[in-house]
Amino acid sequence: MEYQIQRGTYDAYDEEALNLKKLEEIFSSIASTYGYNYIKTPTYEQTELFTRSVGESSDIVNKEMFTFLDKGGRNISLRPELTAGVMRAIVTNKLYARDLPLKNFYCGNVFRYERPQQGRYREFLQFGVECVGINNYFHDVETISLGYKSLKFVGFSHLILKINTLGDESSRENYKIALRDYFKDKISCMCPDCQRRFETNVLRILDCKVEEDQKIIKDAPKINSYLSQEAKDYFQNVLDLLDEQSIEYVIDDTLVRGLDYYSQVVFEYHYIASDGTNLGAIGAGGHYDNLLSDVGGPKLSSVGFAFGLERINALLKIIEGEKYEKPNIDLYIIHLGEETKQYSFLLMQELREAFFKVDMCLEEKSIKSQLKLAIRKNAKFALIIGSEEMQKNCFNLKNLNTQEQIEISYENLIDKLDEVIGLGDYEDEK
Ligand code: AMP
Repeated sequence: MEYQIQRGTYDAYDEEALNLKKLEEIFSSIASTYGYNYIKTPTYEQTELFTRSVGESSDIVNKEMFTFLDKGGRNISLRPELTAGVMRAIVTNKLYARDLPLKNFYCGNVFRYERPQQGRYREFLQFGVECVGINNYFHDVETISLGYKSLKFVGFSHLILKINTLGDESSRENYKIALRDYFKDKISCMCPDCQRRFETNVLRILDCKVEEDQKIIKDAPKINSYLSQEAKDYFQNVLDLLDEQSIEYVIDDTLVRGLDYYSQVVFEYHYIASDGTNLGAIGAGGHYDNLLSDVGGPKLSSVGFAFGLERINALLKIIEGEKYEKPNIDLYIIHLGEETKQYSFLLMQELREAFFKVDMCLEEKSIKSQLKLAIRKNAKFALIIGSEEMQKNCFNLKNLNTQEQIEISYENLIDKLDEVIGLGDYEDEK
């Protein structure tokens, strides 16, 4: 029987897998420079955690959760995002009692039962950060710029940062009244989702992508007229500080985000490839005030974002084309004859301990076939070892790019490899 891959899931291997892993590493190390620490939380949580926090009016909770009863009869859901789990972890472990803000980054798989399409999966990877504890627009800007600079760093030179404010609680309540008033005699002609949103969270109607509905939404009241002076000032401070760092943004007053918990500043990062590919937002986030208290902790303002790693990876593949990184190794050892195999094997193990990426063929194959393997493995160098080389402890090191060949003694091998290849990344970081 041949097993089929599940709809909306994918297998990543070779350069796809390599680059996803690399993105996680790069984003993690940039987040560390901003003072964030890694946090790992479970893949599944009590369903109620998500209904309370992400919100019952959101599509994610309403339509997209993978929910089941476990063998003990508990109502469980696979996480549809990581923020709620991080908040739960902060409460469970009383992390809020530490110095604030708490700054954590995460990377993990999330699950949403969505209609699969380009850039939209049912299981995908999110990298994100949460800065919890202090209501200060500096933290909003710090977080927005961390996301912006991380995306620039990995190769998105022309990023579109969309930003909006949902105001504070009183601004939002006044705005919702105005929206309800505007939509009340139009809602019957709008899509079923909008009709549901009208009842549960009227703000979310602004997020509707249905073309006919968009025509109605276009003339809806704008948040700007309902913002308190305090909320206006807060937003202006954010924009000014972004300007100071030359971070370009576009104010989008229809941006409300799909999750119920946001207040004040919300933002999305977009990128449209030169061939026109638009995968939607590659990252998004915002400020939230009540999430921690909703899951049983103190009321602390927070801000965070999440990136979709598959979308980022897919766009980088288009942007970088040939340069898109393929798996490679530093050195492929080519051994000539049975008697050199063990010697080569032990040398390979020694070089691996020095953090070089080394491989060899452990079967008997001709030099030609082994060279082909070296090229297929994308090796930078080949080290050729015949019985004579083994006796003399001196080998030929061939650069597989330039085809240049040099002779090198065993004693000088590690230093020479270090010079031509550089020690492995791991060794550099130590
Ligand atoms: P959200 O948690 O909805 O704010 O999403 C954050 C980011 O996750 C988005 O900007 C996308 O890059 C990514 N994302 C959201 N949904 C999906 C999906 N179904 N498949 C792949 N990536 C997604």
